[in-house]
Amino acid sequence: MPILTLPMRKFLPILCLACATAGPTAAAPEQPPRLILQITVDALRGDLPQRSLHNMGNGGFRYFFDKGLHYSNAQYEHGNTETIVGHASLATGTTPALHGMVGNIWFDKDEGRLIYNVEDSRYHLLGSNADVDKSSEIDPTQRVALADGRSPRALLSSTFSDELAYAFNGEAKIFAVSVKDRGAIPLAGQTGKAFWFSKAAGEFITSNYYYDSYPQWVLDWNNNSPLARYSGKAWELLKPNKAYRFGADDDQPWETDFPGFGRTFPHSWGNLGDKYFTTALTLSPAGDQLTLDFAKAVIENEQLGQDAVPDYLSVSFSSNDYVLHVFGSSSLEAEDNLLHLDQTLAELFSYIDKTVGLEHTLIVLSADHGAPDAPPYLNKLGDENAHYYDMNACMQAVKEGIEKGPYADVEGLFGQYAHPYVYLDQSVLSQAGLDSAAVAESVAKLVEKCSGVTAAITAKDTTHSPARNPVLERRVWNNYNARRSGDVYVVLDSNVYVNDFDGLTVATTHGSPWNYDTFVPIFFLGKGMEDGEVSRRVSPYDIAPSLSARLGIRPPSGSVGSPLAEVLDD
Ligand SMILES: [Zn+2]
Repeated sequence: MPILTLPMRKFLPILCLACATAGPTAAAPEQPPRLILQITVDALRGDLPQRSLHNMGNGGFRYFFDKGLHYSNAQYEHGNTETIVGHASLATGTTPALHGMVGNIWFDKDEGRLIYNVEDSRYHLLGSNADVDKSSEIDPTQRVALADGRSPRALLSSTFSDELAYAFNGEAKIFAVSVKDRGAIPLAGQTGKAFWFSKAAGEFITSNYYYDSYPQWVLDWNNNSPLARYSGKAWELLKPNKAYRFGADDDQPWETDFPGFGRTFPHSWGNLGDKYFTTALTLSPAGDQLTLDFAKAVIENEQLGQDAVPDYLSVSFSSNDYVLHVFGSSSLEAEDNLLHLDQTLAELFSYIDKTVGLEHTLIVLSADHGAPDAPPYLNKLGDENAHYYDMNACMQAVKEGIEKGPYADVEGLFGQYAHPYVYLDQSVLSQAGLDSAAVAESVAKLVEKCSGVTAAITAKDTTHSPARNPVLERRVWNNYNARRSGDVYVVLDSNVYVNDFDGLTVATTHGSPWNYDTFVPIFFLGKGMEDGEVSRRVSPYDIAPSLSARLGIRPPSGSVGSPLAEVLDD
């Protein structure tokens, strides 16, 4: 047991405003919380909790609105608002330029292929039949992975959870849980334990990066048929149809008609053992309920929050993201899923109150990114500009432009497009003795000829001043990691995006630098902390250094955020 010699907060009130910008170790509570609970709601755009608050109960989101700190103007400042990028930013307090997770997939220059963000061929999943089943996997990024092993190897900055482990000499217990591997692994950092849901196995799993064999309680949990209660049943509305904003719009033509699941309530999950049974669970509130149940098992069996050394639990709820992809953010399904999540949160807080005590728990909730609306929905309301996009057609035109242009005699210059980057073939460039920055510039000009493209930004562009578009270029630059980013970053117009992934058509896709994708809520709740709404512009990069400052420990190694003054004030 380390000796808790943390600075006494009562001697610090005059310094506290300064510590918001200068001194991450300046403030710490006399008694640190026993548990830090970091909740992420996948794709929770900043306005969505407020929009459904009138239909919510008391113990979930309303608990934050009534008793917590609500930052109502938080924006990510990176361009590629995808899941791993946001989760890594929440974990590390920094941008993809420094944490290295520039996208769900990127072209690995050493391996000469696209790789999936948390794949690691040095490791394997524990157990059998847990690998991604490519015949039924609907997540196109997961299908890129060649190895079944998973680890945080590609994360290039330390996380808040790592710093907690270092500060307490390894005695802080650190766990992260999510349906998605990329929702759990970055938050557990290099030092914690991550669990996620295998749709192939129908179980919560991990890799031998974390354990040599499963703890007995995990085997018991999985053997207890946690999915059986959903077999033969369906996702049903929580409230009467008329209680919903979108109650009269259940069947919208742009919603994905996933086989057997359908576009209208009730959405059948099918039967245990059906090919898409576990997938259907993740496209509904059931995925979050399973995540909650497993998180409760972690708290109970690992005895989180039971002594004076602070423990850390990250819970990332994925269903909201899947539902938004399939049905759109302005859909009855999205609206109802959020009400279910509200109940799930209330149950989590109630459980923590009984086991740890909310007075001993510091809670933060945010999102990995926001979400756009479905273009046909916006069209219906009068926006004629919103539309889905055919990136293949644009890239074909770019390739033809290269073949006719100044580099016509250099074959194979265009490597590939992997959202959001065009990668030039570096070996072709060097064999031809070409300057990659000059080639990138001419390719960017070709990309900008495609209709629907706002800007094609090269690495060199972002170092030039004055910027043509300071907000977009800053976000693109913050996404630039020399080892992993491509040569040209493609920014499509507002409310324009690709929605067809190898034949699977979805209602919406996030991943742009526009505000609907960067805008997320941030809530903090802890004993003695201020409450109320803060409308000042902040960013989710501020979360990790705020947690560090609150505990009086070192900020993550790459952190660029600032501790939030209200989180430090009592
Ligand atoms: Zn996400």
